[in-house]
Amino acid sequence: MYFYKNEFIPKTDIHLSPDDRGYYFGDGIYEVFRVYQGQLYEQDAHMQRLQRTAEEVRLTLPFTSRKIGQILTELVEKNKLVEGTVYVQITRGEAPRAHPFPPQTEPVMLAYCTEVPRPVATIHNGIKAITFADIRWLRCDLKTLNLLPNVMAKQAALDHGVQEVVLHREGTVTECSASNLMIIKDGVLYTHPANHLILHGITRAVVLRLARALEMPVKEEAFTTEQLAGADEAFITGTTVEITPILEVDGHSIGTGIPGPLTRRLQDEFVRTFA
Ligand code: PLP
Repeated sequence: MYFYKNEFIPKTDIHLSPDDRGYYFGDGIYEVFRVYQGQLYEQDAHMQRLQRTAEEVRLTLPFTSRKIGQILTELVEKNKLVEGTVYVQITRGEAPRAHPFPPQTEPVMLAYCTEVPRPVATIHNGIKAITFADIRWLRCDLKTLNLLPNVMAKQAALDHGVQEVVLHREGTVTECSASNLMIIKDGVLYTHPANHLILHGITRAVVLRLARALEMPVKEEAFTTEQLAGADEAFITGTTVEITPILEVDGHSIGTGIPGPLTRRLQDEFVRTFA
């Protein structure tokens, strides 16, 4: 069962309009929630980010945050989802193609659940990455549908036989195609500051909270691709990837080339936030 516009409806009964501004302009926003044990994880943080993105792109949400939360909870229940994700997107609505905001469109909300197990193998074994130029716009803090640069980057990784890209702007690491990046050097955790150049990941915020609770020094400071290469440990954070170690970048091992002890510590703590 999906949710579309105003109702819960089977996927096959949804008739999308070719005039939806999501198609023409990528004129819409989205969120991906994790569901653990039938519960939306970090629901308030995701709703706040959705609200903020909506305000920044001047899109009026079709329902209150509270109502959207209720709809998503009902969706999880209707689909009997125990472990997976909920995707929700809201476009500026349907109107003949023209750049200005249409005067009288209704925003269109689409939401559905997917059963997805936790990626325990990669969380345990880690992944490899390549560096890749971050060619996105300057509002990467907004979770909008304009994901072509992220799609191109992810495909470049797969074409190179690795799983992820480390995006950088002239050597300064920002984040990855659909996750944030953290490194550990001499016991200090570094990650790019939450400004306009990265998505303010919900998992990033959880991990920073956990690190501080463990009295691990945290520096929200940008680092370079060279610093990444010289790091003791590196990992990505994201709703679907949780905390996944990065073992190799551009063919060079990070640290000892196996998931590091502080990464493991944070992974253990992270599981306790939902288990
Ligand atoms: N950075 C980008 C570009 C993303 O697309 C995502 C998630 O989709 C993240 C970071 C991680 O954010 P979160 O932890 O909220 O899933």
